[in-house]
Amino acid sequence: MVYDCLIVGAGWAGCVLAERLANGLGQKVLLVERSNHIGGNAHDFVDAHGLVVQKYGPHIFHTRLRPVWDYVSRFTDWNGYVHRVLAQVADRVVCLPINLDTLERLYGRPFTAEQARAFYAERRVPIEKIENARDVVVSQIGQELYELFYENYTKKLWGLYPHDLAPQVTRRVPIRFDRDTRYFDDPCQGVPKDGFTPMFERMIASPDITVRLGTDYRSVATSERFGRLIYTGPIDEYFDYTYGRLPYRSLAFRFETLDVERFQDAGVVNYPGEQDYIRITEFKHLTLQKHPKTTICYEYGAAEGRPCYPVLTEANRQLCERYKARADELERVHFVGRLAQYEYLNMDQVVERALALYEEIRTDG
Ligand code: FAD
Ligand code: UDP
Repeated sequence: MVYDCLIVGAGWAGCVLAERLANGLGQKVLLVERSNHIGGNAHDFVDAHGLVVQKYGPHIFHTRLRPVWDYVSRFTDWNGYVHRVLAQVADRVVCLPINLDTLERLYGRPFTAEQARAFYAERRVPIEKIENARDVVVSQIGQELYELFYENYTKKLWGLYPHDLAPQVTRRVPIRFDRDTRYFDDPCQGVPKDGFTPMFERMIASPDITVRLGTDYRSVATSERFGRLIYTGPIDEYFDYTYGRLPYRSLAFRFETLDVERFQDAGVVNYPGEQDYIRITEFKHLTLQKHPKTTICYEYGAAEGRPCYPVLTEANRQLCERYKARADELERVHFVGRLAQYEYLNMDQVVERALALYEEIRTDG
């Protein structure tokens, strides 16, 4: 069989492109996936107790990109979930991102926006040039809150302290001067009503898409014929690590099912303290599922395992540039997604990149 396109990886990037090429251009697509399921990091499933859980930690779709939201909404309805995160710090459970309520709970006195600004002005460390993920935080809120919320959490998650990571890592979490308790302020957010995996199944349902699970790209690269390759796996692996390995941080997950209806007060509770885990997710908050039991998931940073996060340091960025230069030399081979582009992309950004690549292919042929 000759395919118009071989797509490596059935996560967001791979599924969106398979859908577009098949349904938009009538192309025959071979979609290969190394693991035994579709959905990549966003894969969810029903566990042995009948509870919907997300295999690789909490995933909430959120975006301010209307075309992306409209596109994804063709394959799913949304459950209306709004993500809220609590953090267990200094024996208190407080709202994250840090807002006025957080300050009040921590310091035991009322805060207006002006009082919060004055409070930070006294503590803020003046930094002329923001160079790392620590600078971002201490220049806004000072050393004490940095240590309480960011230092340990980041070390546990990344295996690195914030001063060794790029500013964009901690810039993802805003500091709020109001009482907004949402984790994301994007206008569109939620979890697919019947789960991410059923949504991906609908996305790639076309008879023009052949899906092969448990299949590594290398096992088909020479045996199948295809006119174009779209690769969504780790970019350094594609080039056989010629210039050395690009570090990807991994995570470990420990699931527990408890005989109670509710375990915690929010979908995610972060633990920036001495615990060895970084956060606990209780999926029922996210999925809105009604069930007498509840499944929770402890999450730990891990050096080895499935690649989850590109590690944003200057040395890694430079190494990645070398791989990207190689990638640019290839004809009809495209690299898209979080692992292939080595960027800290949210799901909506991956969809945006995939749709942009589709447009490029559609117009350039
Ligand atoms: P992936 O999902 O990693 O898919 C790539 C696929 O390629 C994988 O399935 C892999 O098995 C396969 N593959 C790799 N190499 C090969 C090969 N050689 N042959 C065959 N197959 C191969 N984003 C949000 O917007 N909201 C969130 O709440 C959110 N929460 C997150 C929580 C965690 C713990 C993590 C790690 C990420 C989170 N993200 C979230 C980010 C989100 O997971 C990613 O943006 C998105 O899933 C990336 O999609 P992708 O297709 O680029 O990559
Ligand atoms: N972070 C932290 N403490 C927290 C939450 C986040 O130190 O309680 C830091 C950490 O370095 C993390 C970054 O802020 O990698 C971005 O957080 P976000 O929640 O966006 O990470 P995600 O889980 O979405 O990758």
